[in-house]
Amino acid sequence: MQFDDQLIKRLREAQHVVFFSGAGASAESGVPTFRDSHNSFWVDFDAGTFATASGYYANPDRVWQWYAEQRLKLRALTPNPAHRVIAAWQNKASNVTVITQNIDGFHQRAGNHKVIELHGNIGTYKCFDHGHPAEHDANISDEKPPHCQQCGGLLRPDVVWFSEELPAEAFTQAKHSSANCDVFVSIGCSLEVYPASTLPINAAHGGAYLVQVNPHATLLDEIADCNLRGKAGEIMPLLWQAVWREQLP
Ligand SMILES: [Zn+2]
Repeated sequence: MQFDDQLIKRLREAQHVVFFSGAGASAESGVPTFRDSHNSFWVDFDAGTFATASGYYANPDRVWQWYAEQRLKLRALTPNPAHRVIAAWQNKASNVTVITQNIDGFHQRAGNHKVIELHGNIGTYKCFDHGHPAEHDANISDEKPPHCQQCGGLLRPDVVWFSEELPAEAFTQAKHSSANCDVFVSIGCSLEVYPASTLPINAAHGGAYLVQVNPHATLLDEIADCNLRGKAGEIMPLLWQAVWREQLP
């Protein structure tokens, strides 16, 4: 693949790069999106039941068990080369921000030490009433939701459900990084999910060089400085080599 000279120059000289990943990045690891109804992964996924607070309150045990099953399935999958390149980039360059819309934790498993998660993480929990965080540990039952150790309220998966706001601190950090970066790389984002979809536009307004990696056309095509059409797992390792002129660690 022949990359544009300007793209390589901007990436090499950037003081701050943002990588922004969406469902397409995880799809290459075998995770279909919630919106893809013809899949065998999110089996029996019904948004009203499994992705709303009222669905959870109506049947907490069932929802809790369903999330436990999905976590098990995710554990059997592995990050793909795009995740590994993003992790290597964060270790190589001085200021790299990783923002994701995915809840699967693949960036961390690939080696990223800091990730801004806009839609939460399926491996962590919080209580309903106060949002007290709780880590997954072996003592947490997959059958029944436990209670918060701080306030006694019911725990829930720490993911953003429909009609819920994005976690405020994460979104503030994401907006700030996007508006102040030199290069913004959108990977596998459909840009149909508001308000996360505003981040690349913030970046462009802030003067960043906007790169898109996606096998499909998206709303970003027109404003991106560079559209790399194809699978992120194939393009990102080539991009790494073109910029750094060394093998991916
Ligand atoms: Zn609590």
